[in-house]
Amino acid sequence: MVHNRQFYGKTVEMRVKMNKCPFCESEKIIEFNETEYFQYGADPDGIVLSAPIVVEFCNSCDEKWTDWRSEDSRQKAVETHLATKGIYLCTVCKSVPVDVSDGVDTCGRCLLSQGIT
Ligand SMILES: [Zn+2]
Ligand SMILES: [Zn+2]
Repeated sequence: MVHNRQFYGKTVEMRVKMNKCPFCESEKIIEFNETEYFQYGADPDGIVLSAPIVVEFCNSCDEKWTDWRSEDSRQKAVETHLATKGIYLCTVCKSVPVDVSDGVDTCGRCLLSQGIT
């Protein structure tokens, strides 16, 4: 099962949900919501952020995993946290903080790779 979503400005196909356990191929998958706490940044400046995630659980082999929805959620938590400090991430790679005060929201490397100077 695939669905289209906006990703970095391009529409790409992403798998919505695994309907089979990647470990034992069972189809007895349970999905539930959880809040994940994770550290962002290294000590001593590191901070613990929380993000609502979707956990997939296999009722057959007891494995647990998360997919891109949880990735998105963690990413949003990081962005929200940074925004409160006036820091914004590059809109292309979503990992390099950029100074938006001069109207640029893309990091130097992404600007180069896009051929924009
Ligand atoms: Zn399994
Ligand atoms: Zn970038």
